[in-house]
Formats: sequence, structure tokens, C-alpha cells
Amino acid sequence: MSFSRPDIIRPPSEWRSYFLPLTRGCSNNSCTFCGYYGSKLQIRDADDSKSEIDALALFTRSGIRLPNVSKVVYAVAQGWDGNRVFLQDGDALVYPFSKLKEVLQYLNEKMPRVERIGTYATPQDILRRSSDELKELKQLKMGIFYTGLETGDDELLQKIGKGANSHDLAEAGKKVKEVGISFSVTIILGLGGVEGSKKHALETARILTEIDPDYVGALTLTLVPGTPLYEQWQRKEFHPLSPFQSLEELRLIVENSNFTDCFFSSMHASNYLSVRGKLPSDRERMLRELEAVLAARDPSLLRPEFLRGL
Ligand code: SF4
Repeated sequence: MSFSRPDIIRPPSEWRSYFLPLTRGCSNNSCTFCGYYGSKLQIRDADDSKSEIDALALFTRSGIRLPNVSKVVYAVAQGWDGNRVFLQDGDALVYPFSKLKEVLQYLNEKMPRVERIGTYATPQDILRRSSDELKELKQLKMGIFYTGLETGDDELLQKIGKGANSHDLAEAGKKVKEVGISFSVTIILGLGGVEGSKKHALETARILTEIDPDYVGALTLTLVPGTPLYEQWQRKEFHPLSPFQSLEELRLIVENSNFTDCFFSSMHASNYLSVRGKLPSDRERMLRELEAVLAARDPSLLRPEFLRGL
């Protein structure tokens, strides 16, 4: 089957990157809340990826467009500043290691101005690689891994089909940090529903403290049609949080997690309120902002439901 280019799904901070697909789908397609649930992993041929790098290099150097290259390549390359590349798709770190090195070496050779390469990575992908292999990737300018932590609650991790427990998550995080690759994790407000909210928040704060990542992005659960969690909600087996309950959860996480130096934000479009800052230095200010909105209980202070995105 020929490789079909995935839609661009990226971390908010990668908005200025060039998006180079190496895979399509996710190797861990079992998370019950995720749009990748049940997706079939496709691995792109390394030569195909290298052809795209050739086309990109030619375009950035001289503006020449080749007829047989996807229009998406030029649409993305048009406004690109040449600094960052993000590897698609759901967990591009699953790409076979020798091929990954081959593509990154080629990218470095053809586009030496690229400063940082980033990718989504599951904890399983990270743990599969040795520290030496991760160091090799770092030398090839792999600068950041984005990992869906979701929660630190082991019972909930099992329930949502994450395929990893909190110990795995912590081990993966430590491994990445030890080799000097930046580690950015996402957590999902509301994932435990009403009944599991407090445990989810406290266990998430615990695992965040243990990992001490460079970046934490809080997302708010969005129920996606076609996923098992959506079906559970339809059957009234899952009880989602209200917007203000999700902010209470966020407050609990900010209050109870301890970091050395972390940029913590809820800027993602799925959130009802955007709070951001450095932790620990901005903790009091962030909590004050949350408190003010929680005390007012005024829905007009929140992002309206129709403007929330995935
Ligand atoms: S590992 Fe991430 S991308 Fe893959 S199914 Fe789970 S949440 Fe989705």
C-alpha cells in the first residue's frame, strides 16, 4: 500500500515547523479517548522521505517547485523559516531506528540550517531505545519529544488503554532528560470523569513531580465520536466534568506538583481557560488567576464550547 500523507496534528508550540511525515497513525492505537484509536500504522519508505527533503531543499534554496511533489509540501514550506522540523505522525519515534537515523542524517546534510527536530513519542517508543541510541538522535538535532502522559493514575491508565503504567512513564521521562533532549508532556483534564477527578489530579501531580519535565501542556478532554470513551459517555457510563470542575482539577495539579524549571500551560484550544507560566516561580500568580475565575463562576470568562478545538 502506498503511503498516504497524514493530516497535520501537532503540538501548539510547533506552529512554525516544517511537517515531515515518517509514519501515519499511531503504533499504540488503543487509547480509548483518542482520534487515533484503531488507526493502522503506516511506515513511510525512507527514500520517499528523502525525496521530500530534496524537494524542500530545492524550494527553500531557489523557489523551484517540482511537478510530482505533493502540494502540501509547498504550502507548508511557503511560510517556513527553516529552523524547525516536526516529524509526523502520532508517534514517529516508532520509525525503525536505522531508517530514522538515515532520514535525519540526510535532513542535516541537505538542510544544515535546521536547528531542532521534534516528534511525538510514546513511552514505549522511548523505552525501546537505549540511552546511546537517544544520544545519537540528539546529535542529529533531535531536540524535543512530546509524550502524552495523560494521567499518573495507574488504574485510569489501564482503563484508557494507554499501554504503559506510571512507572513506565517516569522511566521514559528520566531517560529522555538524562540524554539532554527536552521533554514535553501533555495531561488531560477530565479524563477520570467526575468520580475519578481527585485521584487523577493528585496522581498526575505526583508523576509530574517525579518526571520534572521541561514543559507540561494541559488539555481538556474532548469526547471524539467513534472512540470507546465517547460510546461510554453515550451509554451514561462516563460522566464528564463541567468546565469549572475541569478548572478545579487544574488548580489541584498546579498546587500539588513540584518542578525545578517547567513551562506549564493550558493554552491548547481544548481548554476553557488559558493559564500559563513558569513553575515554580509563577505558581502563586497562576493560582490567583484560577481562583478568580472559580470564584466568579461566570461562564463568559471561559472559552465558549463552539470555539474549543482538538
Ligand atoms: S499513544 Fe497517543 S496518539 Fe497513540 S492512541 Fe494513545 S493518545 Fe493517541
